[in-house]
Amino acid sequence: MDQWDDTIVARMLHHRTESLLPGDPVAARLMLASSYFLPGTPQAMHQYGRWSNPTWDALEGALGVLEAAQVAIFPSGMAAVASVFMAHLKSGDRLLLPSDGYYTSRVLAEKYLEPHGIKVELCSTLDYTSRDFAGLRMVYVETPSNPSLDICDLADIAARAKQAGALMVCDNTTMTPLGQRPLDLGADIVVASDTKAINGHSDALMGHVATRDAALLDPILDWRKLVGAIPGPFEAWLVHRGLESFEVRYERMSTTAAVLADRFSAHRVVKSVTYPGLASDPGHDIAKRQMTNFGTLVGVTLADATAAERFITDASLIVASTSFGGVHTSAERRARWGDKVAEGYVRLSVGCEPTEALWRELNRVLDELN
Ligand SMILES: *Cc1c(COP(=O)(O)O)cnc(C)c1O
Repeated sequence: MDQWDDTIVARMLHHRTESLLPGDPVAARLMLASSYFLPGTPQAMHQYGRWSNPTWDALEGALGVLEAAQVAIFPSGMAAVASVFMAHLKSGDRLLLPSDGYYTSRVLAEKYLEPHGIKVELCSTLDYTSRDFAGLRMVYVETPSNPSLDICDLADIAARAKQAGALMVCDNTTMTPLGQRPLDLGADIVVASDTKAINGHSDALMGHVATRDAALLDPILDWRKLVGAIPGPFEAWLVHRGLESFEVRYERMSTTAAVLADRFSAHRVVKSVTYPGLASDPGHDIAKRQMTNFGTLVGVTLADATAAERFITDASLIVASTSFGGVHTSAERRARWGDKVAEGYVRLSVGCEPTEALWRELNRVLDELN
């Protein structure tokens, strides 16, 4: 496991610098436009707001440097996921989805793909290793899975998907391109919700698709243009702004997460801790190989639902909320949504608070749980 490539981060911050003309703003422009001046034969770079937008270009440029790939942004993570399904699956195809991954992707597939003749098959994240991929059109994975943080081997899955002639798609939301680089490990397509750590300020939704194969991106861009599921320019601008401080935030968040995971493990009221950076974590060996960082999410299992709810509500430095990746530490008891995790399982999303201040408060509340 190495730290992420700092050159990429530096280049991402300056991705517009070379194209600036004297007098241009240093910050990306927020372009609010539905139509553009277009006389005669249409050949302007921007023509109509559903087709392109300079603020989308700025965000796609920055994400493209970070992913070392071509990127299409979408108004949410789910819109990005949907575009991959719709652009690359047709009647008769078989799709493999994680049974324990992000719930909404599964519901989308079952509700809107199955009736159109696409066969949706489920497999737990841990069972991808032993699953036969023969005959599949798309192998879709999520690692660490959300919410249980199980881990599967991306390079192995990519190699076997390729052998089977299937596209391999990885939802990389939980790790971001700083923590894990599925395209480097052989995945064909990455999808992500940038609503989480990439934007990081809990004020905008966004998603993206990244791939190094233009032939895979083209139908996705066509889908966006035709269906009209396009990002708002203001949201794109906000996420571009968030992305500029992403590495600094991610570094603090993941460093603190590692410290907390260790200390939680030693606390008497904590039954178990799920964090890929812990040597005791079942996914640790694979994580060490394929992740550049162990992430910002920590699973903490307390005695029962009551203890978990008390931990979340009594800690003044935890915002009880769904979602994760924001500057404020947040947490939720995932069993409240029916996820297959223990009643006392808390998914903690570590924020940007100073590490020791956060630990003092969390430790105080844990001590009171007896
Ligand atoms: C949040 C999330 C999504 C969906 O993203 P939205 O921006 O909420 O549409 C997809 N996958 C994972 C793993 C997520 O956590």
